[in-house]
Amino acid sequence: MLAIIVHGGAGTIRKEERIPKVLAGVREAVMAGWNELRNGSAVDAVEEAVKALEDNPLFNAGTGSVLTLDGKAEMDAAIVRGSTLEAGAVAGITNVRHPISVARMVMEKTDHAVLGGEGAVKFARLMGFEEYNPVTEERIKQWKELRKKLVEKGEVRHWKKLSELIKEHPEVLRSTVGAVAFDGNEVVAGTSTGGVFLKMFGRIGDTPLIGAGTYANEVAGASCTGLGEVAVRLVLAKSATDFVRLGMDARGASEAAINLATKYFGPDTMGIIMVDSKGNVGFAKNTKHMSHAYMREGMKEPEVGI
Ligand code: ASP
Repeated sequence: MLAIIVHGGAGTIRKEERIPKVLAGVREAVMAGWNELRNGSAVDAVEEAVKALEDNPLFNAGTGSVLTLDGKAEMDAAIVRGSTLEAGAVAGITNVRHPISVARMVMEKTDHAVLGGEGAVKFARLMGFEEYNPVTEERIKQWKELRKKLVEKGEVRHWKKLSELIKEHPEVLRSTVGAVAFDGNEVVAGTSTGGVFLKMFGRIGDTPLIGAGTYANEVAGASCTGLGEVAVRLVLAKSATDFVRLGMDARGASEAAINLATKYFGPDTMGIIMVDSKGNVGFAKNTKHMSHAYMREGMKEPEVGI
């Protein structure tokens, strides 16, 4: 039973007119992944689906990543193979077009699981990834507005209470992307993000931390989105796969994982997508929106939702 699900990030989309474009983006990405999955590889499927989302400036990953407090795009991405527990991630990488592909190279070409900052950029260049500027005009405009709000309202002092700030300014959370696929043999999960707006320089979120924002093993895979610090503290992607190990399917496990996030950190914090090794898909969120799309064997069209 082949299956793939993608997400375009949890949060609140304030401008209603963006929603159809976001839905078209997740649909396109799930089909890009599905085409690879039919050729037999969940790793290729996850990489292609995430690349499609990274190239779409609407989403906060690759092109269109959100900016740090000091105005830079520092991106995180990870990929995990469920059958072997091979994993690769980049944290705080700059100036590359497809962080997910660099993460895959870390998995395949190094003895390490995570490369960060300048070292990750150096490795990307070694692997032939060209210099690329992922910063868009729209993100610069949003960054200026958000920074002004923070400075004028004196909220910079409260930035350490990130979740409170996000409740007040849901636009701070911006559409990270992820994909989880099962190719009949193994589950693979991948996630890519610019992180959260105005994050401190050097801040690393849940996405590249194996088990926090991204995880897969022989029973299931998961990709998280939302306030990264929540997924880090709950080791949420791994916890979600533990629920599958204890007998739940991908759907039940997704709901249980989000219940955990709500219980400890309140609503408006997290979203998750999952696939289990029976080919079931699951998704859940405690935010207003989380764009997603999935395809399973036997379906003619993807199921798309927000
Ligand atoms: N989880 C991401 C992070 O905290 C952000 C997001 O999903 O929007 O880096």
